[in-house]
Parts: sequence; structure tokens; C-alpha cells
Amino acid sequence: MDVIARRARLTDRLAALDVDAFLVTSLPNVRYLSGFTGSNGALVLRSDDGVFSTDGRYEEQSAHEVSDLRRDVSNGAMVDAVARACRSLGARRVAFESTAVSFATHRELTDSGLSLIPTRDEVERLRRIKDPQEIEAIEAAQAIADEAFDVFTRKLVEGVTERDAALELDTTMRRLGAEELSFETIVAFGPNAAEPHHAPTDRPLASGDVVKADFGSVARGYHSDMTRTVAYGEPPAVLREVYEVVRRSQQAGVDAVREGATGDQVDRAARAVVEAAGHGEAFKHGLGHGVGLEVHEAPSLRAGAPDVLEAGAVVTIEPGVYLSGVGGVRIEDMVEVTADGCRVIPRTTKELVVLDA
Ligand code: ZN
Ligand code: ZN
Repeated sequence: MDVIARRARLTDRLAALDVDAFLVTSLPNVRYLSGFTGSNGALVLRSDDGVFSTDGRYEEQSAHEVSDLRRDVSNGAMVDAVARACRSLGARRVAFESTAVSFATHRELTDSGLSLIPTRDEVERLRRIKDPQEIEAIEAAQAIADEAFDVFTRKLVEGVTERDAALELDTTMRRLGAEELSFETIVAFGPNAAEPHHAPTDRPLASGDVVKADFGSVARGYHSDMTRTVAYGEPPAVLREVYEVVRRSQQAGVDAVREGATGDQVDRAARAVVEAAGHGEAFKHGLGHGVGLEVHEAPSLRAGAPDVLEAGAVVTIEPGVYLSGVGGVRIEDMVEVTADGCRVIPRTTKELVVLDA
């Protein structure tokens, strides 16, 4: 779907929202609706017209990326540019993204004479269903991560630190073409793997450690997100058991994904396996989240989440069990939701890999 069709889907909502125009300031949403990849841009959209505002740094870039909208390039305050755009569009009642406009900006826009109507998730809802080009970009990002993980596991040797191992993963992804990293790479050895989100330290790798890595790359603006846990030498027996529990839980989650399932239902399917094994308390987070222009986006898969999965959504399935002082296991895949199930995107194995130590 091109940006014009995406904008039409948003401006179709103007009447129901009872507004003249829609102000978009969330950068991922600006990118989704215009193609603009820079760090400062805003859109004011009517059904038949629209204005893209940015500053002088992006004059050249926005001329290529946003060639199908009127552009306002100025080095004044963004608030002034937005007020100018609204005036030129004859818009007074303007919908805005309530999670993306600061209190101060809201006040300045109101002072300029605009009547601001708060909205939530209007563009995010559209972004939940990916078109074929978006799926391709996510697959490209994941292909980089899969290949980088192969390299990473071959470079795990006694004494390497979490920090060095994480750096190896990061530079390998960049070398393989990642535009950027999806988020700060998590690499945790041994007992540190008991922390779901561990910042890499100088702890050296030792035989018997599990190695948990959660990482991703960005391709054409789209993120990947994967976790794998491998063992460096024979792991503690309890972690071998836990690995199989998490593996079965992850499969139960994957099996529960289909168009029409809710985030709550899929979470429950995966969590039931962990609870039946007696580790319910040790599964300390939700099951998953949407992935796209942001690494965490709608829909949400967790207890109580009402979000209904739609075909074309890309979500993660990432159960984990964390045992303080011992270690932890998480297995995470992105899957594409289909009418009758889902398609797992990573190609990296989920069988327990025990590396020679
Ligand atoms: Zn992750
Ligand atoms: Zn994730």
C-alpha cells in the first residue's frame, strides 16, 4: 500500500472524529504516512490536501521522500509551522495524537487559535496490518539477525565478556547491512540470564553457562526482534528442564496464533505450559508484542490484552523462565499472523544448542 492510500485510510476517519484535519507528530507515524525518514517532521492532513513540515536540514531529503505533499521547510518553531499549515488548509478543529504531543506544545497550539481534539492509536491501528513490502522489510531485518547469530555462536569462547559478545553481535549485524540496531542488545551469561533485560557486563563466559541473547536489526525502517538461549558446555540440569518447558510454551503460543485470536488468549496458551511445569511465577512478563516501524508496537499479547490479531500482523512470541542465582531461558520469534495460523519468520533453530566448551 502506498502512502497515499494510507493517508486516505486515516482521513476517512475525520468525519467520525468531527475534525477538519489530523495533525500527526509521532515520527514513526509520520514515516508511515509520508515516507519521511528524518528526525523532525509533522503532517497536517485533510482528505484532499495536506502539508508536511520540517526544518532546513531536511529540505533536500524531504523533496525526494515527500514529493506528493505540500512542504513547509522552515527553521522556526514547529508549533508555528503547524499553525501555518492548519491555516492554509482552513482547519480549526484538529485531531492530534495525545501520546505524542507534550503539554507545553498543546498549550502553544491552543494559544494559536486551534481547537485540539485528542485521539489515540488512530495511525497505530492502521500499522498493525503489514502490507507485502513491510513484511519483506521485516524478513530482511530478521535474515540479518539470523546470520549474525550464526557468527556470534561460533565466536563464543571461554573468557569472552558479555560486553564483547554483544559488541560482536552488533558489529556483525551492521556489517551484514543493518541500518541500525533494533534496541540495545541483551547478552547474558549464566546467572545473569535470570534478568529478563540484562545490560551486558564484563562477566567472562565459563563452561556450563547458558547464553541468552535478545537482539535485532533494522532494514528499510522495519525492526526485527529475536531471543535465543544456547548453552556453553553442559548447562545445570534444571536449566535443561526449563529449556524444554520454554520451548513447549513458545510452540503452544505459536500454535494459538491465528486471525481472530486475542492477545490474552495466546498469552494464556503459552503461559499454561509454564504454569503446569510449576514455573508460572518465574515467567515475569507478557508473551509478546507487535513489531514494525517500532520494535514494540500494537498489538499486545499479555494477560488481559483485548487486542484481536488480524491477518498480516507481525507479533513476537517470547515466553521466558528466570531462576534467580541460576539463570534463565527465553525463546522469541516473530510470526506473521495468517487466516488459519501463523508463519514463523526466523530460521534459527529453537532446539537446545550445546556448544563445545
Ligand atoms: Zn526481544
Ligand atoms: Zn520482543
